Formats: sequence, structure tokens, C-alpha cells
Amino acid sequence: MTCPVCNDSAEIFDSMQTDRRRGLQGKWKYNTCKNCGLIFISPLPCLDDLGGYYSNYSKSSIINFSLGRGARFPILRKAFHFISGDVDPRDFIGATKGMRVLDYGFGGAGYLCDFHARGVRISGAEIAGYLVDACNSSGLDVHRVDDLDRIPFEDSEFDIVYLMQVFEHLRDPIGFMRELNRILKPAGKVYIALPNNKSVWRKVFGKNWVSGWFAPFHLYQFDRETLARVARQQGFEPTSCWTRTPESWFRLNLKAFIYPEENRLDWRPSWIDMRLVRFMIMLTLRIFELLVRERDCLVMKLEKKRR
Ligand SMILES: [Zn+2]
Repeated sequence: MTCPVCNDSAEIFDSMQTDRRRGLQGKWKYNTCKNCGLIFISPLPCLDDLGGYYSNYSKSSIINFSLGRGARFPILRKAFHFISGDVDPRDFIGATKGMRVLDYGFGGAGYLCDFHARGVRISGAEIAGYLVDACNSSGLDVHRVDDLDRIPFEDSEFDIVYLMQVFEHLRDPIGFMRELNRILKPAGKVYIALPNNKSVWRKVFGKNWVSGWFAPFHLYQFDRETLARVARQQGFEPTSCWTRTPESWFRLNLKAFIYPEENRLDWRPSWIDMRLVRFMIMLTLRIFELLVRERDCLVMKLEKKRR
């Protein structure tokens, strides 16, 4: 396979991965591009395969249209996330009333509902039909996408688009970035959050780095350089970039280490879910990570270049 980021065809074997989180049976191979460092699943699953993988993917997401946690007290929410490491678009996206915003892959719709309640003209796109139906019947403007790589909106429609843990699921990240450029207004902004393949925790946890690997759902593993390269190729300029390790991600990796036979970790209760233990993990992480540049979740802000 040719690397979609740099078109180089020299790849080296990285690892075989299994699904430790949702219990799918199988093994998937990941290769690294020798030239740019992008890690990708090889071979790339076809749409039919992906349909099978996703058939039970998000049935656990429950939509609660009452305003989610943290909507009422944004300052407290931000302070908590500073400690927990959670990456919440409401903390850093300055969308004001009347702005046109797209939540791509809105999942449980918590952020979408909050922005909507604040007068932001927000739309959503999602692959799971029952989530789209639930939101539509509550008067939210959301659209179903059959193929996550196609964006069902008009040219130059949005001021801001954000994707939280979605980009790494896309089969064609290059084509999708081109689509993002198309639907954004001049100087429009994109916020992308995804696992960071340069994270120090990838080296520490190895095959137990399930927050990142998540085979076979995560098709690509980016880092600052590869993501910026894709963005620049498609007419964007990265304007800021940072990394955080959410305590929930770290805890998931810790569970993968503690329970090596478990392959449904997303639903595995454990003593490390206890509040006190979580709090200790948060504090330890925040102190340790003062010394670390490459943490688990990479967030990049891009601006569409004026032509
Ligand atoms: Zn490459």
C-alpha cells in the first residue's frame, strides 16, 4: 500500500493488534510508513468489513437531551478538566451565538446540545442512524452519513467544524480533509482531537495501549507532523497544537495491562474505577506529565487559508 500522507511505498511492520475493547474476533496488522512515520492498518478494511465491525459499535450511547454535565458551570468544568485531562470542545472552541458550527461524529450529542442551547447554529453528522433519528425528533439539525468520508453539506457553509476522536476512523483522511476545506468559509477553523502515535504512553503500554490502537476501528495513527502535513496539503494551516492524557484513557490502558485476557475492556468494571483511585491517577498524571511533551490525545487547530 502507498502511504496516503506522503505517497511513499516503503512500509515496515509495526505490530499485530486484536480488539481488546469491544470483543471483535480477529487480528489486524499495522505498518509504519518509513518516510513520514504514519501508522496504518494494512490492508485497509473495505466498506463491507467496516459495516460489520460497526454493527454493534455504539449501541451503548444513550442520548440525554437535558443539558449534560458541566453545561451550567463552565468555569468549574474547565477547572475539573484541567485536572482530569478530558478533552472537551466546549473548553476551547469559542463558538458564539449565531455562528455556524458542525459537530462531525457527534455520538451521544452532549456537546451538540450544549452549543445549541447557547444559540450556536450547530449541525451534526453521524453514522449511527438511531442517534440521528433521536436528535432529529428533538429538533436538532443532524444528518446521517453512510460513508464517514463524505460530508453532506453545501460549500462554504461553516465557521467551525470539530471532530473529537473521529478522524482516525476515516478510510480516506486526505479526501475528508479536502471535504472539510470545501464546507468551510474562508478562514474557517477545524479542531481535530485524536490519539497521538508519539505518546510516551504508547511506548510504556505497548500492546496494551488500547486507547490508541483500538483495532480495527482506528485505521490510522497520526502525530503532530503527519496530521499537519495532511492539513497543509489540503489548504489549511495549523495554528495551534497541544497534547493531553485524559485520565479515562490512561485508566483504560491500565485495565488492559491488569486484565490481559479481557477483550471487552470498555465495559469492564474494576477497582480502579473507584473515585479515590481515579483522583490519585489524575494527580499523578498531571504531575508526571509536566515533564512530558507527547501525551496521549493530540488536539490540533487548523485554519483554512484564504486563496
Ligand atoms: Zn508516509
